[in-house]
Amino acid sequence: MAQTLPAPVGIFGGTFDPVHFGHLRPALELYEQLSLQQMRLVPCSVPPHRPQPLASVGQRLAMLRLAVSTEPALEIDERELNRSGPSYMVDTLSSLRKELGDTPLCLCLGVDAFLGLPGWQRWRELLSLAHIVVAHRPGWQLDKRSVRSELGTLMAQHRQQDVAALRAGPAGTVLLQPVTQLAISATVVRERIGAGRSARYLLPDDVWHYIQQQKLYF
Ligand code: ATP
Repeated sequence: MAQTLPAPVGIFGGTFDPVHFGHLRPALELYEQLSLQQMRLVPCSVPPHRPQPLASVGQRLAMLRLAVSTEPALEIDERELNRSGPSYMVDTLSSLRKELGDTPLCLCLGVDAFLGLPGWQRWRELLSLAHIVVAHRPGWQLDKRSVRSELGTLMAQHRQQDVAALRAGPAGTVLLQPVTQLAISATVVRERIGAGRSARYLLPDDVWHYIQQQKLYF
């Protein structure tokens, strides 16, 4: 008899330095499109693959809390902040898997993050722990020139077209998902603020007020 699994849980990791609408809108759309029971935003403590954040852990968490306080679909999962050392996604997914049993897990990534996957710690184990959902992002292509051969093989072996595949097993599917294209990045937000310009309407007003109050990125 076919297994009946609970609705999937989404994992949207990031530095969130600061959180902006390019995170929030895709996260909410994926929550709806994939019929998730919840989408967890997972701020990293020590990002292993990029320069360290300018805002402190406390400030990044405070901005995330302000951003999602009125949106029940989006939750914050603080487990990476409570771990010492680099925030490896494979460790995060392992701990979620222990907690959630057979519940399907969907690791949600923008195309840019997906293209960098072969540089991640124990990246080949990720698909045994979760499905991988890749959200389109302006300026990034998943074409033959940009996809490294091992990612191409991964997609050839695991890619599915149908969202229903995420309910058929706890892990192991790669799905590409269109979302509203917002050409916003935290880098651009920080640069604008650093240049003395406004970041309003790129992120929630409450986050923008917090940035001003804390004199962040100026
Ligand atoms: P930075 O500019 O500092 O590198 P960022 O804006 O890319 O930051 P991150 O916190 O590094 O944000 O990204 C977390 C996740 O959000 C990644 O999977 C990334 O692909 C995704 N993401 C960020 N911005 C967008 C966007 N505008 N559209 C779709 N996905 C996005």
